Amino acid sequence: METILGIDLGTTNSAVSIIRDGQTFVIEEDGQQSLPSVVGLDSEGKLLVGFPARNQWALAPERTVRSIKRKMGSSETVQLGSQACTPQEISAIILRTLKERAHRQLGREVRKAVITVPAFFTEQQREATREAGELAGLEVVRIINEPTAASLTYSPNPDKLERLLVYDLGGGTFDVSIVQLEQGVVEVLSSHGDTQLGGDDFDELLMNHVCDKFQADNDVDLRATPTAKSRVLNAVEEAKKQLSFEPLANIQEEFITEKAGMPLHLNMEIMRSDYERLIEPLLEKTLRSVGESLSDAKLLANQIDRVILVGGASRTPLVHRMLHEQLGLPIHTEVDPDLCVSMGAAIQGGLIAGLDLGPVLVDITPHTLGIACIGDLNGHRSPFCFAEIIDRNTPLPAIRTDIFSTSHDSQTEINIEVFQGEDPDVRHN
Ligand code: AMP
Repeated sequence: METILGIDLGTTNSAVSIIRDGQTFVIEEDGQQSLPSVVGLDSEGKLLVGFPARNQWALAPERTVRSIKRKMGSSETVQLGSQACTPQEISAIILRTLKERAHRQLGREVRKAVITVPAFFTEQQREATREAGELAGLEVVRIINEPTAASLTYSPNPDKLERLLVYDLGGGTFDVSIVQLEQGVVEVLSSHGDTQLGGDDFDELLMNHVCDKFQADNDVDLRATPTAKSRVLNAVEEAKKQLSFEPLANIQEEFITEKAGMPLHLNMEIMRSDYERLIEPLLEKTLRSVGESLSDAKLLANQIDRVILVGGASRTPLVHRMLHEQLGLPIHTEVDPDLCVSMGAAIQGGLIAGLDLGPVLVDITPHTLGIACIGDLNGHRSPFCFAEIIDRNTPLPAIRTDIFSTSHDSQTEINIEVFQGEDPDVRHN
């Protein structure tokens, strides 16, 4: 069977998997399964990708690029040394690194890939992702939604109708989707999220908490010095992860700064309960999205068969507790939340290559599609009215028909502009 790579091109971390002997297999290198989605140049101008780039970020942000996924589909460029790069070019560096990793570990080149994107990505963002794949020398056989991929790892061959709630909390983004599996068809019923919320925000809150306390005790703001700030940021991320498994974490950084020629050390104990108080408002926001995605799918929590957690930050115990309280459902954590998206993409690749795993994928349009027309906008006649034609969350492919009339007699031409978005004014879509 032909091998097709399954690639999770994440905001914070990426991963690549394949199907081998009918099983999903994450391709690792140097004991690492994930690759930080960070690209940089070292002080000599050498390209860094992954961990070395991530490690230099706080110290040399001017030659390090992270979270490029947030810019995909925009025309904004980012500076990498003296070069202005498009988001596609930066993403292509990450994809090429994964492709080469697969090449080294498998001993042969694999060109075909399935790449995942958030369910709410617009067509432009999907196109930019495809382009990044091509720049990396990949043949992108399909772009699929992340929650769809995650669902495939859980149950690629369901016999009965099942509905899954996929809660994906990564480093920089959050989304929640309701996925339905029925007779071999996987369908995303609804999707909601926040592209600016994730584990990095937890780090930021904890860093400020630690720095505020340190400042109160020593009258020195650690955030004012890049090296000290970078050390605190790394230390709080480690502490945060520890707090997922232990009730208490210690932050110890010797010689973090100095005051009047005397060295100062950072030594602080963090209780899980204090940390939870800091992040609770952010998690409440995610729960509101959970509620919205359920009501969009016209479902009640008790109609959900299973909750799937995706993304590193979903390991936070408070996430499990709050979700359990809101939904009244057990929270499953069997599949590795960091790897299930790339594993699901590999399963999709296997299906395309002819592997008999059952489901056929159905994706949805994450935004309403429509055209601009003349009509009533806030009580005024306007050429910028958004006429909705295909509703948000409609399974694709879809065909819808609507009838419009010309605006004056004997009109011989019309210009049809297609928009996606939710605003009645097309200028905001
Ligand atoms: P992802 O984007 O899915 O790779 O998730 C990365 C985010 O998950 C980062 O903010 C990590 O600090 C966070 N993370 C990883 N492991 C844990 C853990 N055990 N507990 C809490 N957060 C974690």
